[in-house]
This record gives sequence, C-alpha cells and structure tokens, in this order.
Amino acid sequence: MTNAISDLLAGLKDSDLFRQQSVIGGVWCDASTGKTIEVTDPATSQTIGMVPDMSAEDTRRAIEAAEAAFRSWRQVPNAERAAKLERWFTMMETHTEDLALILTLEQGKPLTEARGEIIYGASFVKWFAEEARRIEGGIIPSPSTDRKILALKEPVGVSAIITPWNFPNAMITRKVAPALAAGCTVVIKPSDFTPYSALALAVLAERAGIPAGVINIVTGLPAEIGAELTANPIVRKLSFTGSTRVGSLLMAQCAPTVKRLSLELGGNAPFIVFDDADLDAAVEGAIASKFRNGGQTCVCSNRILVQSGIYDAFAAKLSERVSAMKVGSGLESGVVIGPMINSAAVEKINRHVTDALAKGATIAASAETPEGSRFAAPLVLTGCTTEMQLASEETFGPVAPLFRFETEEEAVNIANDTPFGLAAYFYTRDMARAWRVGEALESGMVGLNTGAISMAVSPFGGVKQSGLGREGAREGIEEYLETKAFHIGGL
Ligand code: NAD
Repeated sequence: MTNAISDLLAGLKDSDLFRQQSVIGGVWCDASTGKTIEVTDPATSQTIGMVPDMSAEDTRRAIEAAEAAFRSWRQVPNAERAAKLERWFTMMETHTEDLALILTLEQGKPLTEARGEIIYGASFVKWFAEEARRIEGGIIPSPSTDRKILALKEPVGVSAIITPWNFPNAMITRKVAPALAAGCTVVIKPSDFTPYSALALAVLAERAGIPAGVINIVTGLPAEIGAELTANPIVRKLSFTGSTRVGSLLMAQCAPTVKRLSLELGGNAPFIVFDDADLDAAVEGAIASKFRNGGQTCVCSNRILVQSGIYDAFAAKLSERVSAMKVGSGLESGVVIGPMINSAAVEKINRHVTDALAKGATIAASAETPEGSRFAAPLVLTGCTTEMQLASEETFGPVAPLFRFETEEEAVNIANDTPFGLAAYFYTRDMARAWRVGEALESGMVGLNTGAISMAVSPFGGVKQSGLGREGAREGIEEYLETKAFHIGGL
C-alpha cells in the first residue's frame, strides 16, 4: 500500500470498514491456502491492499455455513428480518462517506457518483425490508368441499450471488436484500477488482444484527469459486450480473443441478432522438445515459440514433458538453469521468474507435484526458454506421457514436437489430409515436424522454441475451421465493 492510499484509508471515519479478509459463518478469515490477490486503484495502478484468493474448499465451507444459517434464518418472523434489514439500511446511510471513498478507491468513479451509488444501493435494502412484510401466499378456490388448497411462499434456499465491478455496492444490495427478505442465505463472490465494497457491507450487516452465516463472502479469482458455487447441490439459486459470455457459461454449469437463475447480462442500448424531440432534454438524457460511470454501465446508451432533421444541432450541442468534461482521478473535485477499470477496458474502447474511424466516422468532440493506460477520452463520433464494431458490441466507455436515420421504422429496426435487449431510450413529443415506439422496442426497460431508468421501485432486467428475471420492484423478491401448493384433504 502506498503512502497516498494509506493516508486516504486512515482518513476513513470508521477504519474498521476496510477489511482485507473474507467472512464465512461470521468468522473473518484468510484463504485456507494462505493465497492472496492484490486490489489496485484504477486511477494510479497503485496497490490498495490484498484479499484472500479462496479455493473450491473455502467456497464449500461458505456454502455449508450458509446452509446451517438457512435453517434458522428462514424461521425468523418476516417483521424481524425486515427490522434487521432496516438497521442495515440506516447504517449504510450513516456511513455513506466512508463507503463512497472505498468504492471510488477500488472502482475509480467520481466520488459524487460513488455517493449516489451508495444511496441507490441502500434504497434496495429499504425497499426489500418493506417487501419482507408483504410476502403473502394465497387461498385457491377448491374444486370440492372436502379440500382446501393454499399457495405457500417459501425461500428458495442458499443463493449464490456473483457481481461485477461496475457497481460494487448496488449490485450486491439489489440481490442480497431480496434474498434475505425472502428468508434465503447467501454466498457472495464479488468481482476480484472490487471486493472491498462488499466486505464493508458485510461489516455493517454484522453490526445490524444479521446473524452469522446469513451473508458469507468468498473473494478471489472467479473460475474455481464459480465452479463450486454452480456445481454444489446445496446452492439452489444463482443470481449473476455480468457479461453475457460468463452468464451463459454459468447457466450451463448450473444445468446439472437445475438451479433457479437470475441473470442480468450485457446490453447494447439504443438512444433514439426524433426530429420533434426537445433538443436540450435529449442532450441532457444522452449525457446521463451515456457518460455515467464513464460509460461503464450495462444500461448505458451504446448507439445514439438521431433523425436527419435534428442531427447537426444535436451533434453540436452534445459536442459542446463533452468537450467541457473533466477527466481524472475520481477523488479530484469537478471530475466527471474517472479512470476505466483497467487497461484491457481502455484497449477495447480504442479498438472500437480505431475501427469506426477506419470505416468513416469522425471525431466531433473530445475532452482533455490525462496520460496513462487507464484513462479513455470522452468522445463524440459522428457518421457512424451499423457495420462498425461499436454498433454490435458494448463499448463500455465514454464514447458517444451518432448514427443518422430518416424514418421511425428505420430507427426501430436498427434499435432491435441486436441479440441484446436490456435498456432503450427515445425522445419525442408525439404521443402516438411514443406509444408505437415504446411497444415496438425489444427491451426489458424503456425510457421515454428520460435517460435514467434504474430505481428500486421499478423492475430491472432484460430480454433476449440480456438476461432472465427482474431485480428491484415487487418482482425482485419473487426471484428468491418458491410457491408450494398445500392441499388439505378429508375436511
Ligand atoms: P464479467 O462477466 O467478466 O464478470 C462478472 C462477475 O463474474 C465478476 O465477479 C467476475 O469475477 C465473475 N466471473 C467471471 N468469470 C467467471 C467464472 N468463470 N465463474 C464464475 N464467476 C466468474 O463482467 P464484468 O466485466 O465484471 O462486468 C461488465 C459486464 O456486466 C458488462 O457486460 C455489463 O453489461 C454487465 N452488467 C450487466 C448488468 C445488468 O444488470 N444487466 C449490470 C452491470 C453490468
């Protein structure tokens, strides 16, 4: 750990939130092999610290601890589970500043965005604390008078939670809060790039009175831990957020033991601006949906489709905004674009830009960007076409590619011409078109005249190769519940 980083960590109001061990069955521990992996600050590439590199054996221990805790946790009255979740929520609120600093250090996003993520992450804990009180079954009208039929709601069981690095806090709470509310226990494998946010959440959960073994965390490299989590028959459910490639691999690994699955996978979101759009609002929406988290979100607009009549005005206004963006360490004041997670991410962005320029795109705007392999310049590219790599793959960076279109039908066809279907956005003031296009877009989530669609009250998830299941909202808790038909005969 360098002096600069140790000074920052020393500045935490509650330094106990920064843990370099995993937690299994309430015990903070190292890997059984003693192996560790390094976690670095994306802005400087400097070491923040180490975490255990856990093995299949450690993962089995965590699964068994979760199984032991499940027997009692499922019996805890819903109101009591809710109260514990509410305490966890309050602690997240109280410790927002420390949680945000840990998040920015390991993930890179600007501190203001990190604070926003903590508040967003906490909102799922609050929401599902409330939902825990409303887990209700039903009484089904019986076909005969000597029988009653009930539908009982029961927790699925031990759940494996595998999360990505782009939202190291919120992707955990969005899964763990409904799991715990339903009466499930969990084994979390956070991204090896961002384990500290997960460990800090576990410290707060412990303080909130969530019993030992209900939340277990295994840190380390993914393949071995993932193989055990997916093969072990005690695990009844996998909830995964990450790439479609890894999601489909895990789905295959879960097949032999037929686990319940929730998969939040990659996207390729279209952002359509029609001629009749409110120009300023559309630019604002594009900034929000494209550049949040440096463009590293699954719901980031990846293809900005602009109708001919408004194309030049939109490109000019967006370019003005993008050229003024401040790029740098997330800890620096005024920075809106932090570093990318690693140099491989920057290489992918550069590959997309080089390919687009070779196929006829033009850089309409760029912002001043620090040297270094971890930073990517925010760009506006005009003249993009569907043959370019950035039209079919997630760029996952601060690059806004503009595609020109003429008709509504053409825009909808381009928007849907992808195997993904997570988020889609469009701007128009014509209500008839609003309904038509909203219904025609093949996407789990649609934003009309808004670039923000993620909130605890609303179902989050994709269609096609963007995934299975929904998180948040009323639907989110159903992912962790089974329905048991209970027939009472001989009445
Ligand atoms: P990733 O698929 O590489 O990794 C996600 C998680 O899976 C990480 O914890 C990683 O360590 C783990 N993992 C990787 N290989 C594994 C294996 N063989 N077995 C078990 N676990 C394994 O994705 P990423 O780069 O961390 O995240 C970016 C991707 O996530 C993007 O494609 C993005 O669109 C997607 N994403 C989707 C959503 C959504 O809600 N749909 C949200 C955020 C990110």
